[in-house]
Amino acid sequence: MNECNVESTQYCGMGTVISSKVYGAYANEALAAAKQEAIRLEGLLSRFIPHSDISRINSSAGISYERVANITYKVLATAVEFSKNCQGCFDVTIGPLMNLWSYYKQRHKTPSKIIIDKFLNLIDYADIELDANNNAVFLKRKGQSLDLGAIGKGYAADLILEVIKEYSITSAFFNIGGNVATIGAKPDGSRWNVGIRHPRKANGLLGVVSIVNKSVVTSGDYERYYIAGDGRRYHHIINPTTGYPADSGLISVTIVADSSMVADVLSTAVFVAGLEKGLDIIKKYSGIEAIMIDNDLKIYITKGLIKYFSVFEKTEVCILD
Ligand code: ADP
Ligand code: MG
Repeated sequence: MNECNVESTQYCGMGTVISSKVYGAYANEALAAAKQEAIRLEGLLSRFIPHSDISRINSSAGISYERVANITYKVLATAVEFSKNCQGCFDVTIGPLMNLWSYYKQRHKTPSKIIIDKFLNLIDYADIELDANNNAVFLKRKGQSLDLGAIGKGYAADLILEVIKEYSITSAFFNIGGNVATIGAKPDGSRWNVGIRHPRKANGLLGVVSIVNKSVVTSGDYERYYIAGDGRRYHHIINPTTGYPADSGLISVTIVADSSMVADVLSTAVFVAGLEKGLDIIKKYSGIEAIMIDNDLKIYITKGLIKYFSVFEKTEVCILD
């Protein structure tokens, strides 16, 4: 068997594109196991798959508890903890507002404030009842629904890496719809390079960050958006306090962390929170580095990341302590 065996693959999964590169004698087997794990996790966590754990919880909102897999229970318990720490910027009960905005967005329309407020009333992570003894979950009110869009891919990336580590893999790169997660360095010892999208140039890169054994996740306002007649950009990250797409002054937030789930949640939460409040949130967690880009394309970067970040454009860069 070849010790330097490398296997790459790209396929659709978890509602996005999953691409990966795995090095090792058992790279092929590891990738097959990773794919199985991605399918299993989507089957539990997607709100678009009719009998997934999340869909069952949503259908039983206001009616009854639903027993769920350990994995589902754990991610929901963790999501509640994140919500408590994120000062109103992260809430997995965002489902009703996502449905509302998606309906209007498809028609290039904006819902009225009255409708938004009606839906906003349903968003409250404190209404998630967790029964640890039975691994059961209940949403207190009819009409409430869970949406793991800001945590699920990161959580899946962490679990997938755990699976492939069982195949003695010490070098791997996964990209699950923009959630990058890695094991170790490249086989030659060099760092993995992850491009940071230019938030205002389609398909352009603003810079590149290089990492070893870390995850990199970006939340931006340049995906799944439309620009309305009033010139406003309606995108897919919602401020759970106002019910409107977040408008914090930041247009892209990249988080580098050991855990992809932590990076996934924090990128969304900091995007909603804005620079100052975002930094407060980040400080609650250890080992977090961030690159934040504001409306004027000014870049804010945490100190620990400077030597691993190259920027391709002349733009102001501010270093954060
Ligand atoms: P991406 O779509 O690239 O994964 P994010 O990680 O920022 O981007 O997640 C955005 C998704 O998270 C939305 O599509 C929605 O499903 C969900 N979401 C949006 N706003 C919030 C929020 N404030 N708190 C929790 N989840 C959110
Ligand atoms: Mg996220």
